[in-house]
Amino acid sequence: MRVLYLIKPGELTLKGKNRKFFEDRLQASIRRKLEGIPYKLSNRSGRMYIEVDEQCAPEVDRCLRTTPGIAGFAPAVECEKDSIHLVQEALALGDRVLKKGRGKRFKVEARREDKSFPLTSYEIACTLGAELQKQYPELIVDLHRPDWTLYVEIRDKGYLYVDSERGLRGLPVGTSGRGILLLSGGIDSPVAGFLMGIRGMVIEAVYFHSPPYTGEQALKKVESLSECLAQIAGFFTLHIVPFTDIQVAIRERGVWDEATLMNRAAMMKIASRIAQKRKAHCLITGESLGQVASQTVQSIGFTNRFSDIPVLRPLIGMDKEWIMEKAREIGTYEISILPYEDCCSLFSPPHPITRPNPSILQGHWENLGIEELLERALENMERRTFTYRK
Ligand code: ATP
Ligand code: MG
Repeated sequence: MRVLYLIKPGELTLKGKNRKFFEDRLQASIRRKLEGIPYKLSNRSGRMYIEVDEQCAPEVDRCLRTTPGIAGFAPAVECEKDSIHLVQEALALGDRVLKKGRGKRFKVEARREDKSFPLTSYEIACTLGAELQKQYPELIVDLHRPDWTLYVEIRDKGYLYVDSERGLRGLPVGTSGRGILLLSGGIDSPVAGFLMGIRGMVIEAVYFHSPPYTGEQALKKVESLSECLAQIAGFFTLHIVPFTDIQVAIRERGVWDEATLMNRAAMMKIASRIAQKRKAHCLITGESLGQVASQTVQSIGFTNRFSDIPVLRPLIGMDKEWIMEKAREIGTYEISILPYEDCCSLFSPPHPITRPNPSILQGHWENLGIEELLERALENMERRTFTYRK
């Protein structure tokens, strides 16, 4: 049996003349994930449709759930645009819902895109609702808290479906440039990457690795997070930068209270060089205002100086509870809480400064003389790629 998926594009509907560009990107990201599966994808009158064999439906389901730019989707039935066929299909769907024991309270929501159809949306909803109740007298119309909703859309044809899955929303991958995410093994940075990913940005990550202070397990954790993030775009690149020598050098030069900020400055500098090589438009971090000493507005003001491109901080105004909830929702939380030291906690000063004086710190930075170490770290960088799990 064939299954027809009706796909509601997200904010695309707002994009005016750019709409075609956004639609093409959305189609491309769907196709990338469905490679190797036989299906038919079409785009007509404001909706996208995927037709697929029933046995491949779970793959399509997963693809639509993980792809940005989709507001919602549902398996739908298609029929001729006349009352007889609409009623017939509505009754068949009603029968299926009742057999599944979905409850008796229902409503009908109709949408008439083709204005030449003789009934208004309201009249369509009333007609189908009345026919359903005539056939199944146990049904009760409940507009406020229905157990299920029958949706009807009159477009090039009639489309009917019951309930609708929520998509990730946001914008299709490839419509918002490229960003380099500073990905640690913590809770925050994967969430930051996810948020920018669903705004249509292609994300690559950089992880600063400090063996033996951070072991192979810490790296594995970052790899698992990268694999998780690869599910959004379908692909993901992780750059692994050896950071030990830099951290040790900062310590050896006697910098203690300012160590975290010096480390951050080095990370920003290296990341913005990677961005330049990878033609990325911005850096992304998981910083949240005031969460730790290195994330006060003064500290951010200092570390910001070390990137020559914009630094996006999507979590800046979010509290930890919100971030943790989001991490659970996107499946990174369980990976992030695995107990492996990250390089910063090992080198953290007991009394970090919270309100640094940028010019004094700048002086410290210049005295460090670690420019050569930054270059060497870049030369010894490794790259791994991750793909979509079918
Ligand atoms: P996270 O949960 O993302 O690790 P955090 O609350 O532990 O955040 P910090 O350790 O202060 O915060 O790090 C702030 C930001 O700096 C992180 O969100 C991340 O973007 C970046 N960062 C920190 N350590 C690393 C690292 N080892 N590799 C790459 N980026 C890092
Ligand atoms: Mg951290």
